[in-house]
Amino acid sequence: MKRSPRSGPKEDEKTVAWPLPGDRIRRVPLPGSPGSFGEDRGDRRHCGIDLYAAPGSKAVSIEDAVVVEVGTFTTPQTVPYWNETFYVVVENEDGSFVKFAELEAVDVKPGDRLSAGDKVGEVGMVLNAERIGEEAPEYIRGLKERGRPSMLHLELYESRPEAPDKYLGGNWFGQGGPKGLLDPTDRLLAASRSDR
Ligand SMILES: [Zn+2]
Repeated sequence: MKRSPRSGPKEDEKTVAWPLPGDRIRRVPLPGSPGSFGEDRGDRRHCGIDLYAAPGSKAVSIEDAVVVEVGTFTTPQTVPYWNETFYVVVENEDGSFVKFAELEAVDVKPGDRLSAGDKVGEVGMVLNAERIGEEAPEYIRGLKERGRPSMLHLELYESRPEAPDKYLGGNWFGQGGPKGLLDPTDRLLAASRSDR
C-alpha cells in the first residue's frame, strides 16, 4: 500500500537514536537503582537518568529536535566537588523537551535543527574526585568509590524546563518536583532498541 506523501511517519516508525552512540552496551538504570529517575538521595531526588560514559563520549539527540537553550550546569563555585559542565535543552517534534547535562563540550546553539543522532556535545567529568570528602552526600561518595565520576544526565519535560530554586545539579530538594518533569525511562528503553 502506498502511503500518501502528506501523511508523515507514524509514531511507531519515528526514528530515534540512543543518546550515546559509542556505547557497546545500552543500559538504562531502572527504578530503584543508582542513577535512575526519581532516585531518593536522602535530601534530594534525582530529576533525570544518569548514563555512565567516559569523558569526551559523543552525546546525540534522541529525536528530531530544535535547540532552545544552552547554559552552564555545574561549577566548582556552587559545589566544591563539581567541575564546570554545561547543558543543552532541545524541543522534540512532539513538543517534549530533553535536557542533556553534565557536558564538557557543547556543539550546538539555540535555533539549530537536529536530526535524531546529530551531535549535541560531549560527556563531561562532573565530579572532581579529589575534592569529594566526608561532607559529600552518600550517593556522591558511592560514585567516587565505583569510579563513575562522568555521565550524561538526561531529563525529559512536557513543557520548557525552568530553573526553580529547589533544583540544583539535576536534583530536586523538597517535596514535588520541577514543573512538567517526566520520567524518561520508557523513551530511553525505546531508544536502546533502535538501530541508531
Ligand atoms: Zn543525574
